[in-house]
Amino acid sequence: MDDLRKSGVEASNDLVSGPAILAPTPSVSIIEAISSIPDTLEQTLPMANENFDADLIIIGAGPGGYYAAIRAAQYGAKVICVEKEYLGGTCLNWGCVPSKAMIASVEFLSKAKKAENFGLKKLENVEMDFDAFMKRKDKIVMAERGGVGYLFKKNKITHVEGFAKFKDAHTIEVTKDDKTSTFRAKNFILAMGAKVIMLPIPGLEGGREQNIWTSDDAVTAPFIPKSMVILGGGAVGSEFGYVFNGLGTDLTLVELMPNLIPLMDKELGVELGKTLAKQGVKVKTESTIEKVERNGEGWKVYIRKGDAVEVVETEVILLGVGRKANIEGMGLEEIGIKLHKKGVEVVDDTLVTHVPNIYAIGDVTGRIQLAHVAQNEGLVAVSNILKGTKKKIDYRFVPNAVYTSPEVASVGLTEKEAIDQGYDIVIGRSKFAIFAKAMASNETEGFVKVIADKKYGEILGVHMIGGHVTDLIHEAVVALKLEATLDSMADCIHAHPTMAEAVIEAFEDALGHAIHKA
Ligand code: FAD
Repeated sequence: MDDLRKSGVEASNDLVSGPAILAPTPSVSIIEAISSIPDTLEQTLPMANENFDADLIIIGAGPGGYYAAIRAAQYGAKVICVEKEYLGGTCLNWGCVPSKAMIASVEFLSKAKKAENFGLKKLENVEMDFDAFMKRKDKIVMAERGGVGYLFKKNKITHVEGFAKFKDAHTIEVTKDDKTSTFRAKNFILAMGAKVIMLPIPGLEGGREQNIWTSDDAVTAPFIPKSMVILGGGAVGSEFGYVFNGLGTDLTLVELMPNLIPLMDKELGVELGKTLAKQGVKVKTESTIEKVERNGEGWKVYIRKGDAVEVVETEVILLGVGRKANIEGMGLEEIGIKLHKKGVEVVDDTLVTHVPNIYAIGDVTGRIQLAHVAQNEGLVAVSNILKGTKKKIDYRFVPNAVYTSPEVASVGLTEKEAIDQGYDIVIGRSKFAIFAKAMASNETEGFVKVIADKKYGEILGVHMIGGHVTDLIHEAVVALKLEATLDSMADCIHAHPTMAEAVIEAFEDALGHAIHKA
């Protein structure tokens, strides 16, 4: 606005009540006035006034909430972010960050155990110092949490500690330690995330003290279990399977579907199952836990596959599935927010709820439960609230990543989805094993699979398993977003030697001329 004012263009209406109409003053020509209007006719900021403490109150400071808070502050809004626990939410404190810190240590341990593969003399007595391992993880979490606090301060975001509850569509009460304060805002974003739950498995009673762990307990593990049965072979179950197996736990991983990470392209799940099995994990697919029984300090787990039941004795059961939206006790329905089975209902992909001044983002909506989706939803919601846009979030090209070793990553349509949607497809493949960088860094496992439309070569999906693929996948995200074709991707020069050479090789293979294919 300042720039516009300097140029002699004034906002003619009340900033609080709606879109500003820019009227030229006599001192500027109509052409100058028009050319100073932004490309998209966006609504200017609704500002907090005597009726409101903030333009925007965000409930929850997870990746969705803190991204939204910072972007809103960057737009000049007065922002309050209410958090009942820790800045950074699940992702930073109980999810993405601690789990990846643990994975990195285990990966280093397994490399050190095979140091001779890199030309070192065999290292004796290589083992994890469990205390130091957990402290390293805690340090990373604390640093990240502090980073969010620093950004809040820098952006003048008011961080209110406590549990938020609605009184009406513009008012919340925040309670902490029996003290309650009231805050009013023009707009709200619900970013309360989700929490772990116990599953209704016959015989499963108790919690951490009884050696029934959720993912919250796994990232704060009090000891390395001698044995563990993990229920769920999705990303969370597979990653903890990799971690505890690498720490020396006798590990059984139980997955209901025919392969691990069943939401991704089938070949990735099959390959991951094989590699985890090679590392020592007992992978049980098409299996379920029928019941459990207490067995001293541990458990007897009855694992059913078809007609057969296998009994596995274990010290710890880890529930790698099951989360529930944080919606209780907030008076949401009382103010007109509609709920569905998995959380808060949004009207459409603009992320507005059934109450027009309240938006919802991230895990609390029960849509795609990933940190980067929550972040992007936060940015979309803030733009819609403060800029008056009607942006819809584009869920087509959300990358999926699993941080086992080897890593797994994918974006776009799986082979099955492409066929089911009627595409006539061509598939390109390549293996990391033949590339110099993979050999040099001893990361020869895995492959890249590209799915493209046969007629025009439009890339539909890219799926990878191997070293660093959670970073490599972003080339594919951009390719899909920009509707790239095989030709255009194969024309992009990739540095040598890199793991990314396997990606270009897969594009070339789909075109029928991969250089390294015998
Ligand atoms: P959250 O991060 O859950 O944050 C919500 C916040 O709201 C919480 O801090 C909560 O205390 C607060 N809150 C709730 N109710 C109230 C209230 N009434 N008043 C005040 N505050 C409230 N995703 C990835 O993309 N990559 C990964 O590698 C990954 N790994 C994961 C590993 C594990 C073990 C787990 C459990 C999850 C993982 N996820 C990962 C998922 C990711 O953590 C979530 O998708 C993400 O945290 C969702 O962000 P959010 O902002 O919606 O909610």
